[in-house]
Amino acid sequence: MPVGKCVEPSSTSGFPETPESKRRLKNLIEISGLSDDLDVISEAKRVSHQDLFGVHTKDYIKKFEELSDQDGGELGLRAPFGPGGFDIACISAGLVKEALFSVLNGKHQHAYALSRPPGHHCLADFPNGFCLLNNIAIAVESAIQAKKVERVAIVDWDVHHGNGTEKIFYNRADVLTISIHQERNYPTDSGHINDLGGPGAHLSNLNIPLFPGGGHSVYTHAFDRVVIPKLKKFQPDIVIVACGFDASGVDPLSRMLCGSNTFAELTERLIDYGDSGLVFAHEGGYSELHVPFCGHSVLQTLSRSAVIVEDPLANRINSQQPDIIFDNLQYERIKEIADLHGL
Ligand SMILES: [Zn+2]
Repeated sequence: MPVGKCVEPSSTSGFPETPESKRRLKNLIEISGLSDDLDVISEAKRVSHQDLFGVHTKDYIKKFEELSDQDGGELGLRAPFGPGGFDIACISAGLVKEALFSVLNGKHQHAYALSRPPGHHCLADFPNGFCLLNNIAIAVESAIQAKKVERVAIVDWDVHHGNGTEKIFYNRADVLTISIHQERNYPTDSGHINDLGGPGAHLSNLNIPLFPGGGHSVYTHAFDRVVIPKLKKFQPDIVIVACGFDASGVDPLSRMLCGSNTFAELTERLIDYGDSGLVFAHEGGYSELHVPFCGHSVLQTLSRSAVIVEDPLANRINSQQPDIIFDNLQYERIKEIADLHGL
């Protein structure tokens, strides 16, 4: 369906991570009619302490709960929270867990958790980058401990490196962590190509750091040349996407040039890759205007719905794509990564 002229909304707080992008994505899905083609579940149980302790230290959870019961505060780096922040974070992680279990239990073929706060930066004992609990890690660990799944792959296309998820699973051969991100954005010193996994887990971690300015062609090339071949080699029981939309060409916290069509095409590649179900966990994305269109394109692709919305920023972003000389530089880096992983 066509949509009217969009107006860039003003940020409600001045802080980049706000509910707005998520609220507007939900609204777009409803007003376009796409929600009629989805099984929308609006509630999920919060994760339990047992779930939390599968990933996070008892000391961190204790401090988080105590501060949340008072006035809120900050226990890490750029991850502030208000009163009751612990409960909200547990519900956000609970949505991701619910999405994962619904696919593992055969209730849904694919699932998307539109949750907040995000999770992929959070370490076992140190929240950072707006992330207070590592939602995906908690869900994965819960599923493994419940013997619902044995081998899991996490594909993180948020524009920032998935440092928390990488570190939590770095020594695990049963969990493949892949992160495609803008090089040295956040955190500034992680996400390197030679970080391949710890002892006993060699090649279970794969980083694809991209130069600022990369767009549609480098992302799709990276998927064709590295991500999909790596998944075929690893053969996970399920793939979970850390689904940030901050590689958008208009995102204020990055310098990449993806369009909503890019995220749709990456989703298509994951659907085509194989038999395993797909679970998406919403991560970053700070353009309140563009995130809804990116999210809509992913959900439309996942659900095979005929409800399509016109992305008002498509022409602007497509007209800014880099030239082939720039792309070729990135392709050389991607080839180097493929060689490191024997792909
Ligand atoms: Zn991000």
